[in-house]
Amino acid sequence: MHTKTLIELSTALHNGDISSVELTQHYLNRINSHNSELNAFITVAEDHALEQARAADSRLQQKTAGRLTGIPLAHKDIFCTEGLRTSCGSKMLDNFIAPYNATVVEKTNAAGMVTLGKTNMDEFAMGSSNETSFYGQVQNPWDKQYVPGGSSGGSAAAVAANLAPIATGTDTGGSIRQPASLCNLTGLKPTYGRISRYGMIAFASSLDQAGPMAHSAEDAALLLNEMAGFDPRDSTSVEQDVPDYSATLNDSIEGLKIGLPKEYFGEGLDPQVAAAVETAIKTYESLGAIIKDITLPNTSLAVPTYYVVAPAECSSNLSRMDGVRFGHRCDDPKDLLDLYQRSRGEGFGEEVKRRIMIGTYALSAGYYDAYYLKAQQCRRLISDDFKQAFNDVDVIMGPTAPTTAFKLGAKTDDPVAMYLADIYTISTNLAGLPGMSIPAGFVKGLPVGLQIIGNYFDEARLLNVAHRYQQATDWHQQSPDNFK
Ligand code: GLN
Repeated sequence: MHTKTLIELSTALHNGDISSVELTQHYLNRINSHNSELNAFITVAEDHALEQARAADSRLQQKTAGRLTGIPLAHKDIFCTEGLRTSCGSKMLDNFIAPYNATVVEKTNAAGMVTLGKTNMDEFAMGSSNETSFYGQVQNPWDKQYVPGGSSGGSAAAVAANLAPIATGTDTGGSIRQPASLCNLTGLKPTYGRISRYGMIAFASSLDQAGPMAHSAEDAALLLNEMAGFDPRDSTSVEQDVPDYSATLNDSIEGLKIGLPKEYFGEGLDPQVAAAVETAIKTYESLGAIIKDITLPNTSLAVPTYYVVAPAECSSNLSRMDGVRFGHRCDDPKDLLDLYQRSRGEGFGEEVKRRIMIGTYALSAGYYDAYYLKAQQCRRLISDDFKQAFNDVDVIMGPTAPTTAFKLGAKTDDPVAMYLADIYTISTNLAGLPGMSIPAGFVKGLPVGLQIIGNYFDEARLLNVAHRYQQATDWHQQSPDNFK
């Protein structure tokens, strides 16, 4: 049951071969037996899920069900869920029960999908290994000594281990694509503004974007159909029609122009990862694509630019966590300042504090021009590189991450080494472009991801390009031995 595609599950539900309650119970049982090995879920919403499943079953009986009605999913614990804890991986929000649903959750609910629970994540989505979570590290189902990637590591582990058929994630600098790469999944970060950020706890508002984490492009398209769209409650969401992303999956890619940026194949890239990516590119050539060498000359500015912009924005966003309105409050504060200081000091973890400090510094009078303003200028240069490149090519390809999964603990003492895990993903967030990671082979038993970057609002093409590859290969169908 847990190895079926969403379309197979949907067909089984619509034909009455299985009920949503049975399907949901099947996944809840898998979570109960395997979550302790992986720590993929922070909250398992058993009662809530079964209630949603019963409602889905009545819609299925009354023939008012949609394509995804009755299908379970897991939400990253960054999305507000009414009545369920929304922790964002932080002690600060350990006691926070959201009073409303994020638009993404509202939309999956309206589609009749069933929320199995909330997945583990790096604290406030800051990290590339899921090791900064207050709820502890997540283990990679492919090898439990390795990280699943971050910050959407819980969603990645849950789907890779078949504890949920699909999940949501968010990506500020790579947090959908990098864990997808490390766990053999198909993850898509859409164009900035494609999906509403309302009710998605903000890390860096000008970079954050939600997206699906799935086994295949076909599954990802189905969930994106539900997640995407304009939302008047998010002033950065874009008022543009949502195409049916499933409708164009099979389009021909004959003549597709693929750009390979030379900066994505240089120093720091594991040669075996490079080899797997090159094999994938050959497959595209055999499918009729045309390969072009391109350059994105400002790539080396991406990580330093991001680590000014993202901390600057997070220092402002996280100021609302002050021990007054919601979240953690210290015991017996002696005055207001003590309340702020101790509540924040106790509630936030080390990485979050580091970012707040850097961001506050970069925004302070006297340093603003030297850091923040400079970073914004670099950001423009990075966007212009892509603009230039898309004059000549339809999509850009390269590795998603420089290496396969690394060992738990390997980079926890070296923040800069950790930051470099996102070296190929961060630029697309700075430019607001859509990017995707798809399974492209294994190195020593650990998955490799191929990244596909598209032009603005070209998600349909990315999914099409990914799907055609998945018709020709079976990497995406591989599951880790212990979770088949
Ligand atoms: N790893 C990056 C960071 O730590 C990106 C995280 C993300 O995309 N949420 O900021």
